[in-house]
Amino acid sequence: MQMTRFEELKNLLSKPKQIVILSHRNPDGDAIGSSLAMNHYLTRLGHKCDMIVPNEFPKFLKWMDGAKDIQIAEYSPSNSRNLVENAELIFILDFNTTSRIDEVGQWVEKSTAPKVMIDHHQQPQEFDFMYSDTEIPAACQMIYNFIEAMGHLDLIDRSIGECIYTGIMTDTGNFRFKNTSAATHRIVAELMDKGVEADRVYNHIFNTQSPDRLRLLGKVLGSIRILPEYRTAFMYLTRKQQLKYNTQKGDTEGFVNYGLGIDNFIFSVIFIEDMQKNFYKISFRSKGNFDVNEFARKYFNGGGHINAAGGRSDLTLKETLDKFEKLLEQHKEELNKAE
Ligand code: 5GP
Ligand code: MN
Repeated sequence: MQMTRFEELKNLLSKPKQIVILSHRNPDGDAIGSSLAMNHYLTRLGHKCDMIVPNEFPKFLKWMDGAKDIQIAEYSPSNSRNLVENAELIFILDFNTTSRIDEVGQWVEKSTAPKVMIDHHQQPQEFDFMYSDTEIPAACQMIYNFIEAMGHLDLIDRSIGECIYTGIMTDTGNFRFKNTSAATHRIVAELMDKGVEADRVYNHIFNTQSPDRLRLLGKVLGSIRILPEYRTAFMYLTRKQQLKYNTQKGDTEGFVNYGLGIDNFIFSVIFIEDMQKNFYKISFRSKGNFDVNEFARKYFNGGGHINAAGGRSDLTLKETLDKFEKLLEQHKEELNKAE
């Protein structure tokens, strides 16, 4: 593990501190897993920790030990703000710019507390202590490395292990994305030795769906647009459709991956209308060297990783899709050459 000024941080952590642990908007398994694992670990070291995420997270992540203690800034802004203002140390996990945490980002920018970032996304902002590695598939894998570098692997029990396992499993697409390494599997083996049961975690995350969610998936797949000339598939979901299928937070997670299942296709996108505000949240996925981080950053005010990124569009659905199809035409050669 290579963290800037690591020895200094170790020194800071040698005395009890008031710590705030933050993760990104629309928290996923890696965001919640890394927050909880770090919370349990630092609490065991004698620190007082609070976890904050900007908005609600899916029910399929709430079984993890400590999940009910995570503050949702959108629901309790003044409490969250107080916590950030009074923090002596701030952990920034699974994201790397304050723009990813809505108004919490403004409180963080004002805070003079030292900030520790542990993250695997591209192009990080500068923080006091940084462990940034875009080759590692999950922030949770980095949390394991961090605890190891602190000399505390013995503090990882089944509960911390399950949180770490969750983030690794979800961010690697169940250990099948390209960034899944031998190191990933070695860490997972260690976690299993500490009592983590792979099927228990998998069942909590993937086998707790509502019938409506499956019907919604059917609807979305039924209207998938297939563009072989660009090796691209895309899908969309309006607010009205989501209401019809009683869509809950997290229900649409994973839908976008289906487009990559088509033979020879390398780019899949889903446009999902926000339930409150007038914009579309976009998820981009690719295979090989077609860089969706770049694409999302350049055209849709987003970012992420080479093969998985997000963004947004404030245009109408029709305008958004028109813009997207024009961009496909512009990138036609690149899409056809990608491998
Ligand atoms: P998803 O499509 O699942 O929301 O996100 C895919 C990946 O891109 C995740 O690692 C997520 O953290 C990142 N991501 C999603 N939306 C944004 C965004 O607006 N900006 C940046 N920088 N990253 C994003
Ligand atoms: Mn992640």
